[in-house]
Amino acid sequence: AAAASRNGAVSAARTMSVRAMSSVPTVPNFINGKFTESSTSKWIDVTNPATGEVIAKVPETTQEEMQEAAIGAAEAFKEWRKVSVSNRVRVMLDYQRLIRENMDDLAQTVTREQGKTLPDARGDVFRGLEVVEHSCAMGTLMMGETLGGVATDLDQYSYREPLGVIAGITPMNFAAMIGLWIIPTALTSGNTCIIKPSEKTPLTAIKLAELAQKAGVPDGALQMIHGAHDAVNFICDDPRIHAVSFVGSNRAGEYIYDRATKTGKRAQCNLGAKNHGTILPDADKEMALDALAGAGLGAAGQRCMALSVNIFVGEAQEWIPELVERAKKYKVGPGHEAGSDIGPVIDAAAKERIEHLITTAEEEGATILLDGRNHTVEGYEGGSYVGPTIISDVKPHHTCYKEEIFGPVICVMKADTLDEAIAITNANPYGNGCSIFTQSGAAARKYQHEIDVGQVGINAPIPVPLPMFSFTGSRASIRGDLNFYGKAGVHFMTKLKTVTSSWPQSSMRWGAVMPTMD
Ligand code: NAD
Repeated sequence: AAAASRNGAVSAARTMSVRAMSSVPTVPNFINGKFTESSTSKWIDVTNPATGEVIAKVPETTQEEMQEAAIGAAEAFKEWRKVSVSNRVRVMLDYQRLIRENMDDLAQTVTREQGKTLPDARGDVFRGLEVVEHSCAMGTLMMGETLGGVATDLDQYSYREPLGVIAGITPMNFAAMIGLWIIPTALTSGNTCIIKPSEKTPLTAIKLAELAQKAGVPDGALQMIHGAHDAVNFICDDPRIHAVSFVGSNRAGEYIYDRATKTGKRAQCNLGAKNHGTILPDADKEMALDALAGAGLGAAGQRCMALSVNIFVGEAQEWIPELVERAKKYKVGPGHEAGSDIGPVIDAAAKERIEHLITTAEEEGATILLDGRNHTVEGYEGGSYVGPTIISDVKPHHTCYKEEIFGPVICVMKADTLDEAIAITNANPYGNGCSIFTQSGAAARKYQHEIDVGQVGINAPIPVPLPMFSFTGSRASIRGDLNFYGKAGVHFMTKLKTVTSSWPQSSMRWGAVMPTMD
């Protein structure tokens, strides 16, 4: 079986074939252990954002193929759930080794289809790898509870069982990490898994499927289907799928949450964000300004935890020009070139949307301190580049504040006090992440307790929790109440079974009365 798996993985490379009539390779689906080209007539272009070049075509997988994937995953579950947790973990240990060995290739693929710089792409893979590593503790993570002698001659214990088939719908901005939030947790907890990657970044995902097969994930236990709305609707509706893990925008996620839960599925949906930084005048200025520039502009602002709004409190407002100077030093360029700090945004439509939001800020009375519109990079004129942008005097009613910009744009606000900064942050509907920069333990503690945001950084930008914890965005940044990865992620993908066991020492009879078990 292992040899068959290896052959399957080799054939995956072959299946990235050159289609007749076109020199652009197609991306295969991965169904029941085979990498096969879809028979669809509908294909979506995958572009390299650095150049605008079409690098692959991804299928809108047909209904029949998606059915096959769901049936296969449900069948595979019957056997996979019986594999001991120790043996499931052994497969994951091989998976983590293969991901490490292929780190450079994976990172280059992320950069090629998503645009972020190579060092940042390595971070994308690494933060997913950490979840793979953590899932290798699944034996402990799935443990239940027991209480001997809960009543006379009676013991109770509970344990966790897998749900069945978990579907993952992933976004374009972390092409490796988010698939890896879902795949290892689902598989080591005994579930099987169907992933629908973003149609904008399917190449990294299919490489992750190849490595999973090489690691020994059995046929059908991990399926990958490509597509857009039809694939999403299929996942929400298909009765063989028990839970949906979604990460992406509010528009898509709220729709998916409603549609999936209506059919009785569990759903966890991580959504958009508007993350606020608060900078107090007693902060370590150099550290804080470096952190703000990096967290606002890194990855071209296309991180759900990007610090896209900075509130400067009191005398800290004098540092705003220095933030602008730092931002000016960020070099915009293709992600694969050493020296680039900010890669392109995902596509031309994103560039247009971001630039439009900068224009609305200007029209609505904000001040553009640094303008990244109409940015081009020599030799890469077809790429979708936006230069670092800083908008000051931003007010809560401005469109650039109300909408998630998802570009290298920092909105600057001013407040007189920490209380005012907390009030501004809490009044924003999103609650994904936030950070405070201060040298005062008392101010940090007040902030931590009064801020209504799920992930708080204290002198730490991008406070994404490691997988011993969970990703705990709150309010409009999430639908569902069991978070991704960590203990909550395991709880999402498993259900509790509780056993009541009676082995009486003396004769005992059950009657018509409700057992009170005293
Ligand atoms: P997106 O919502 O456009 O796409 C995500 C997935 O949903 C894709 O697989 C896509 O095919 C599908 N999709 C897109 N539009 C849809 C629709 N109208 N109906 C049904 N399905 C649809 O998101 P994106 O642009 O790929 O990613 C960026 C967004 O994701 C940002 O809003 C960002 O904040 C968010 N995000 C959130 C987190 C988090 O953990 N909170 C992490 C990463 C990204």
